[in-house]
Amino acid sequence: MAYNTDNIFAKILRGEAPAFKVYEDDYSLAFMDVMPQVEGHTLVIPKDPTENLHDADPIILGHTMATVQRVSAAVKQAFDSPGIMIAQLNGVPAGQTVFHLHFHILPRADGLDIGMHARNMADFAVLETHAQRVREALA
Ligand code: 5GP
Repeated sequence: MAYNTDNIFAKILRGEAPAFKVYEDDYSLAFMDVMPQVEGHTLVIPKDPTENLHDADPIILGHTMATVQRVSAAVKQAFDSPGIMIAQLNGVPAGQTVFHLHFHILPRADGLDIGMHARNMADFAVLETHAQRVREALA
């Protein structure tokens, strides 16, 4: 399937939609998920127009994974999280809802359940404080 440039992450990359950004470099962008499954739920995307893992240029994927590693460490620190789950969905049957490659960074801890996928919109003021915590951990 051809990459659809109308997807929300493409709009965020073009500056046409807002995002609580935490990190950006030449190849990738990281920002808070607006419907977090847990506090600190952060997304990392390549800037390259890529629908899913299988379409990705391996070099771009390498740069993106370096960002996942870096931002994941910052999320772990910012949310004092003993565990971090990385999730990445490919295709509708797998649950993918936004068709621009992305990696979910999800803080995990014993007894801390994760919420439903893409279900409840966060309070934007709270999300900004969470983004700031991640930015500070990255600094
Ligand atoms: P997928 O289901 O494709 O793996 O995940 C898409 C993710 O994007 C979901 O976790 C959903 O909450 C998130 N999402 C959907 N729309 C927006 C948006 O406009 N901004 C942000 N930051 N995240 C979004």
